Amino acid sequence: MKTVSDYFGSLVFDDRIMKSKLSADVYRSLKKTIDEGASLKNDVANAVASAMKEWAIEHGATHFTHWFQPLTGITAEKHDSFISPAPDGGVIMEFSGKELIKGEPDASSFPSGGLRATFEARGYTAWDPTSYAFIKDKTLCIPTAFCSYGGEALDKKTPLLRSMEALNKQALRILKLFGRDDVKCVRTSVGPEQEYFLVDKEMYEKRKDLMFCGRTLFGAKPPKGQEMDDHYFGVIKPRVAEYMADLNEELWKLGILAKTEHNEVAPAQHELAPIYATTNIATDHNQITMEIMQKVASKHGLVCLLHEKPFAGVNGSGKHNNWSMATDKGDNLLTPGETPYENAQFLLFLCAVIKAVDDYQDLLRLSVATAGNDHRLGANEAPPAVISMFLGDELTAVLKAIENDTPYSNHEKTVMKLGVHVLPKFTRDTTDRNRTSPFAFTGNKFEFRMLGSSNSIACANIMLNAAVAESLKVYADRLENVEDFETALHDMIKKTIKDHKRIIFNGNGYDDAWIKEATEKRGLLNLKTTPDALPTILEKKNVDMLTSHKIFSKAEIQSRYEITLDNYSKQVNIEAETMVDMARKEILPAIESYAKDISKTLIAKTKVLPELPGKYEKNLISKLSAYADGIDSATSELESAIIEFKAIEDVTEAANFIRDVILQKMAELRVVCDEAEAVTSEKYWPFPTYDKLLFGVR
Ligand code: ADP
Ligand code: MG
Repeated sequence: MKTVSDYFGSLVFDDRIMKSKLSADVYRSLKKTIDEGASLKNDVANAVASAMKEWAIEHGATHFTHWFQPLTGITAEKHDSFISPAPDGGVIMEFSGKELIKGEPDASSFPSGGLRATFEARGYTAWDPTSYAFIKDKTLCIPTAFCSYGGEALDKKTPLLRSMEALNKQALRILKLFGRDDVKCVRTSVGPEQEYFLVDKEMYEKRKDLMFCGRTLFGAKPPKGQEMDDHYFGVIKPRVAEYMADLNEELWKLGILAKTEHNEVAPAQHELAPIYATTNIATDHNQITMEIMQKVASKHGLVCLLHEKPFAGVNGSGKHNNWSMATDKGDNLLTPGETPYENAQFLLFLCAVIKAVDDYQDLLRLSVATAGNDHRLGANEAPPAVISMFLGDELTAVLKAIENDTPYSNHEKTVMKLGVHVLPKFTRDTTDRNRTSPFAFTGNKFEFRMLGSSNSIACANIMLNAAVAESLKVYADRLENVEDFETALHDMIKKTIKDHKRIIFNGNGYDDAWIKEATEKRGLLNLKTTPDALPTILEKKNVDMLTSHKIFSKAEIQSRYEITLDNYSKQVNIEAETMVDMARKEILPAIESYAKDISKTLIAKTKVLPELPGKYEKNLISKLSAYADGIDSATSELESAIIEFKAIEDVTEAANFIRDVILQKMAELRVVCDEAEAVTSEKYWPFPTYDKLLFGVR
């Protein structure tokens, strides 16, 4: 039998394959490109392309594609076959260095927010050698960035790579101050925990809302939901277990370190977490994971729902972005060290994150803003829309002692002086798993918990890296030329704690009292919806920061703002139209035919027994008629609102109309439909109900 180690990464052109397939010289040049960003010479590119092609063909590939991540949030690929006509009438398989390095998809239909129009008509894709090529569906997939000819990013990978570079640059400046001249590079790592739902495919196909929107737009609460907590970490059902085994195998072949899997809180909800990797690779892997999850589900007669809120009344799905910074020497910069000096360094990096999260709450919030995620944040199941940080009692006490020049009580009874005293060892406290915090320190990494399950993790990490790079820059600017480094460092850490302690909150983030305190006393932002959050990207402080680190240009910021907001409006508009369609063509006819059959029953019964009062039937018929009227009028109102929405040209105004009007009308229509469902015979209801969807997979 084949073991995992036999086939792990078998579909990846990874370092092992490169070493064996490339000459020593070519391998060395390529490594220089991967590790240090050195540009690739033509002959090297040709040699790599040729080896890649040989290897891909050996593994059954017939096509290649530049695989990229446009602003739609999903991945894109355009397949070209390797074939080229041979003079003898046959074909030869070709793939050149040029084709490896650069592609020109006819990509005019991808959203660009006017960027391509402003700059050049077409975009191009450029190989990202830091992420390995892989084979999927008999196609060699080459991870690429997608840009306009003017160099403006049209994708999520380009700014992510830029943000990693910005953080690297500033972190190296800081490390130099601590005498770490040996460090060549600092990279951020991410381990994204992915939540999802599995539903039966046959049932899925009977629901237009699931098919068009990925979530249910109607559905009365079933008698049982998640109240028993019997699903969380529960025994995995056989069909789901088979799915997970198959999924793991597919992911392992693609070199993705799928590690843990378990049932989540809601019925039919599950989670998969990989072992963490460099942010760029983790992002690519998460995109592939989401795709493979859906593909494998289909083979098992299931559908994998990645929507943030597929069902009302039970938890939605998110993604936890576990984030850390590490040097090429393997030191995690968020690990408290062994010596006083190392501890000071740790505290400085910790403070950089605290300052970053406080200064750029808005950017972090908007990085996770989507129509789907608006249903979760602040809805008592996910973190609130207010961003705060959990540090745990111990670390908070240490910071307090530094701020106030007071002794740290659990420690020696002396005033903490950085660079002199050893910090206590913070062991990862398993009891303080604060699950309600949007941004929690978990021993040697931060867990950003606001991401939606279908989000690309690129956006959150771009903003996080950018904000931390900015803190580090401010620190480096101040510390580089001081005479007394230790005193300056101590003062700066103290100042950071004083200025930014409002962002630290170790209590229950779901508590209403906290939201009040956060917004009224602490002045933290509470950006409840996508249209509330997104405009903050245009604020001067944010534009200045993002452009100064060369993560986005002004035009890129504007285009992203428009595209994201437009996506939001489009997505909700599709939901609204789907509701109208389902209400008119499915729900109303079902209620009518049920009422008709009840009427027939009543007539038949009174024929036999003319004196029968027929109270039950008459009541029911009148109830059903009232619901039908209610549904009809709520649908008409939603229809009118959709017409009004379509006449709005300005993206911001349109999104605000969606938030203030369309979503309200949708909610009103849903209420009457769900009430009608509760009194309609199951036999007549036109699509599978919540109980079947949530408990149907055995
Ligand atoms: P849980 O949060 O469920 O207790 P863990 O903390 O073990 O689980 O890990 C959650 C995720 O965090 C995993 O994907 C793991 O690989 C990742 N992770 C662990 N250490 C780091 C780190 N230093 N940097 C980034 N991610 C990490
Ligand atoms: Mg976790």
